[in-house]
Amino acid sequence: MLVEVIKGDITDLKVDAIVNAANSSLLGGGGVDGAIHRKGGSQILEECIQIRNKQGGCSIGKAVITPAGNLPSKFVIHTVGPYWNGESVENRKLLAECYLSCLNLAIKNNIRTIAFPNISTGVYHFPKEIAVEIVIQTIKGFIDKEKIDKLIFVCFDDENFYLYRQKIKIINK
Ligand code: ADP
Repeated sequence: MLVEVIKGDITDLKVDAIVNAANSSLLGGGGVDGAIHRKGGSQILEECIQIRNKQGGCSIGKAVITPAGNLPSKFVIHTVGPYWNGESVENRKLLAECYLSCLNLAIKNNIRTIAFPNISTGVYHFPKEIAVEIVIQTIKGFIDKEKIDKLIFVCFDDENFYLYRQKIKIINK
């Protein structure tokens, strides 16, 4: 599994799947969620509503998949990150679970290239330095690495980009 770090807008990427940092309603929101729904068009929201009607949204740490509408990717994997309300083992576990849920769902759907935003580090206020450590440890421990060709971390802000650039040098060694 090749791991890359880029700075940019995840909605521009032509990969098999991009990950959305959604909320548990699956009905859209701000940040990356807003950008994905705006650019991807109504098909994504319609699919999210169907999932919501069937299973009542998406819990924190879990993931669901929809087509990508007008986006250049094929699928959107929607996951719900934990809201940072102070240091807790539970928050750390849930952030790790988000990444694993997305990767496992990707494998189930024969997705070989996947791009992640920095889940929970926007309006959910997860400290970026803590989040990146959890993400790196989770990816290192992911056992089905050979089933994914490329994993891209898409950083939107300078701070995350700088942190990921430093850490990924270590992961790719
Ligand atoms: P959360 O509620 O999980 O914190 P946000 O969307 O507020 O979700 O933020 C998650 C991360 O996504 C933040 O680091 C934010 O800078 C980043 N982000 C916002 N818009 C985009 C985008 N278009 N492409 C990639 N990342 C984005």
